[in-house]
Formats: sequence, structure tokens, C-alpha cells
Amino acid sequence: MARTRMVVVGGDAAGMSAATQARRRRPAEELEIVAFERGRHTSYSACGLPYYAGDVVKDWRDLVARTPEQFAEQDIEVRTRHEVDHIDLEARRARVRDLDADRTVEEPWDLLVVATGSEPLRPPIDGIDLPGVYGLSVLQDGIELRRAVDAGPERAVIVGGGYIGLEAAEALVNRGVPTALVEAGPQVMNRIDPDMGELVSDAVRDIGVELYLEEKVEAIEGDEGVRAVRTAGRTLDADLVVLGLGTRPAVGLAEASGIRLGQSGAIAVNPRMQTPHDGVWAAGDCVEAQHLVSGKPVSYHLGTIANKQGRICGVNIGGGYATFPGVLGTAVSKVCAVEVARTGLSEAELGELGLEWEQAAIESTTRAGYFPGTEPMRTKVLAERRSGRLLGAQIVGRDGSAKRIDVFATAIWNGMAVEEMVNLDLSYAPPFSPVWDPVLIAARKAAEQVDRTLGQYL
Ligand SMILES: Cc1cc2nc3c(=O)[nH]c(=O)nc-3n(C[C@H](O)[C@H](O)[C@H](O)COP(=O)(O)OP(=O)(O)OC[C@H]3O[C@@H](n4cnc5c(N)ncnc54)[C@H](O)[C@@H]3O)c2cc1C
Repeated sequence: MARTRMVVVGGDAAGMSAATQARRRRPAEELEIVAFERGRHTSYSACGLPYYAGDVVKDWRDLVARTPEQFAEQDIEVRTRHEVDHIDLEARRARVRDLDADRTVEEPWDLLVVATGSEPLRPPIDGIDLPGVYGLSVLQDGIELRRAVDAGPERAVIVGGGYIGLEAAEALVNRGVPTALVEAGPQVMNRIDPDMGELVSDAVRDIGVELYLEEKVEAIEGDEGVRAVRTAGRTLDADLVVLGLGTRPAVGLAEASGIRLGQSGAIAVNPRMQTPHDGVWAAGDCVEAQHLVSGKPVSYHLGTIANKQGRICGVNIGGGYATFPGVLGTAVSKVCAVEVARTGLSEAELGELGLEWEQAAIESTTRAGYFPGTEPMRTKVLAERRSGRLLGAQIVGRDGSAKRIDVFATAIWNGMAVEEMVNLDLSYAPPFSPVWDPVLIAARKAAEQVDRTLGQYL
């Protein structure tokens, strides 16, 4: 019997999870697996790149979970520095460019997994391609940024205040580089509510970053290398610039090959990670998923999602049955000592959907108030008006606060109302939390607010 040939495009979280799962279920005599990766590395932690640039992680090799040689031991062939530049859906062939040898080959497939990930937004600003301007996406970007930081830049500017921009700011500050951050919106971390975002802006200033809000970058100046970043209001000297303007799904190849995109602009897949094209699967940052609160298709770029989708894709290709239920956008990050977390929807997102909500925000501490090391944290809860269904939660606080978001994520996942959360049997001991955990206090306050408003309707 002829072997089935599985071709994977993209050798990181989603693609290699799919390959590994498929291999676990189908032996090499039955299923040949070949992955093409245009970079030099496979299965690396992009999430660790800011920590490598900041010298928290000393060796980039520690960010690699599995090398091509390790995949080969599992009978998974990985060809790095190979870029797929066209997919023929009819003939079931991929055109692959060997970037080192500079030649192109046609590769047949029976099953194709598109796992091309996402790419940093690079708006058409003058000077954006100058040497010294870095985006952070693949491992090589992190290696190059680290090299630039090691060279001792005099001043850095971060463009964009999303979590990647903030993590890069932390890295540069920790390496002693004077750093400014320019953000076009009124706050950093625009996916959380303004009152919470303001706390993060304060945290950014507190670590010594010059923060310029509501300023759009007009040009990056320089000739041989970057010299300055110009906004409408000022010119900021810089010999190193990091772009943190957000990411978009890397769907150029899919789109040009006729693979259907969904409403969000990412590849449309069913819950088993199949595209509508026979034999074509897709997973990770390049696909869209259903948001479990809004019901809408979204394109979120998170390693948590990419790994799960890759696994599900591989289970199905391997002959099993698994489905991806959807996402809440649960995410955590930190700027030096300040942790930030969110799950579900923000007030702005709820407003766009036409939903009505109640909100409660509380100040509390991470441990018992008297316990050494206790730190402040603010927890905000959004619950649907009348029903009290939990719709979203956000946390900004110090050491030990952010991971509490997972309790809220679990509650939203299970469709709980804030009233039902009030008596959840959460753990307590003074080194870990106050006797009323901040999650419980915030849920109780939100439930009381839902009750009060309900009283007005009756
Ligand atoms: C700086 C940074 C920090 C992050 N921090 C977090 C975090 O803390 N928590 C979290 O959940 N997520 C985080 N993420 C997001 C997370 O890393 C991604 O969601 C995850 O890597 C997506 O995996 P993926 O396999 O879908 O895509 P990617 O990791 O983007 O991999 C896609 C791969 O495909 C290759 N490729 C693309 N096109 C082609 C082609 N045509 N031919 C061959 N190869 C191709 C690319 O080179 C790349 O290696 C972070 C991302 C970055 C950049």
C-alpha cells in the first residue's frame, strides 16, 4: 500500500504539534511526514524572545523545544530554510524554494497542514526597513535583537504598546538601555479597559520608560542605520527601534493559493481544523476561531491556542477524533513587577456587540494583608445585566496576581454567573491569598451590582 504523504508548512508550535500527534497515531510505514520551515529553527518559544533579549534567558538554544535532528528520530523530516511559495490544491503539490541552494522543487502531498503563523504589522512608514528596526516574530528575530542589545545601543524606541512592545521595553530597561515607547492610542494594552490600562501605563513610566501616548509615528529617520523616530509632536533619537504594532495572520500563501479565508481575515477551518479544501488542514495563528462569549470568528495569536489546535489537527489526521471548542482570549503578561491579565471581553468589545453589562472593580492584596511580601492588585469583573453571566475579567497587580485570571476563564468557559462564583471553594493560606480571595470578592461585588440593577427593573 502506498504511503500517505503529510506536508506541513511552518515548523513551530502548531505545525510541529500536528506532525508529532499524527506520528504518535500512525507509523512511518503508513504516513510519511515532511515539514518545511523557512527559518533555521523548529519548535521554538517565540514567547521567550523578549526574555532572551533581556538576558533573563542566557542561551537561545534553551528556547528550542525540539530540533530537526530530534524530529528525525521520530521519523518526521524537517527541511529548514525551505519556503513554500505556492500550493496547487488541484494537483496536490507545493512549490518549495530551498533558500540556501536557491532552487525550487515541487513536492506532492496527500494531506497538507498550513501552519504559517502570524507576522508583525509593518505599516508603510518611511524608514521602517532601515537597519536597526526590529520586529519580533521568529527565533532569528530574537537572536538579532539580542545581538543589537549586546552591542550597547545608546537609545531605543519601541513603536506600539501591545504586550510584545511592553515585554521588549522591559528587556531593554533591564539591559540598561534608555528607552521611549510611542503609542498611537490613549493607553498601552488597548485590549483591556482604560481604567486598567492606565495602571499599566503608570507601570511603564515607573520603570523609567518615557511614554508618549496618542502619538502616531510618522517616519523612522536614518541612512545607513536608524537615527531617530519622528511623531507629529517630536523627534526621538534612537539607534535601535522595536516594532510592537501588533500582528496579523500570515495568510499570503494561503490566499494566493485559493485557500478560503474567514471573516476575520484568517484561514477558515471547521472545529476539527479542516479547511473546506479536500485534504487541507490548518492550525495556529493563521486560522480563525470562534470566540466563546461573542460567538464571532476572531484571529488571536497566542501560543496557548496554537499548540492546542496543532494537537487537534494531528489527532484527526492520525485517525482519531478531536475538536477545538473556541477561545476566550485568556492572556497574561508583565512589565517588570506589574502583571496584567485578561479573559473574555472588554467593555469596548461588549459595547460593540450591543450587550449590556455591570462591572465591579476591587482593590485587594495578593496574600493576607499582614503577610510579608503581600502586594496590591486590582481585579475587574464584567457580568451581563440581569442574567449575571460572567463576560470578562481583568487583573493588574504585582507578584502572584495574574494567574488568578484562570479561575475567571474557567468560570466563563462553563457559563457561570457571578452569583454562582461567590461561594466557589477556592484555596486559602496567608502566604497565598487573603481568606476571601480577590476573585471571590470581585465576583461578589459584581453579583451585588447585578442584583441592584435587577431591583430597578422589577
Ligand atoms: C515576542 C512574542 C511573545 C509572545 N508571548 C506569548 C505569550 O506569552 N503567551 C502566548 O500564549 N503567546 C505568546 N506569543 C504568541 C505565540 O508565540 C504564537 O501564538 C505561536 O508561536 C503561534 O504558533 P504558530 O505555529 O501558529 O505560528 P508561528 O510560531 O508564527 O510559526 C509559524 C512558522 O511558519 C514559518 N513559515 C511561515 N510561512 C512559511 C512558508 N511559506 N514556508 C515555510 N515556513 C513558513 C515561520 O517561519 C514560522 O516559523 C508570543 C509571540 C511573540 C512573537
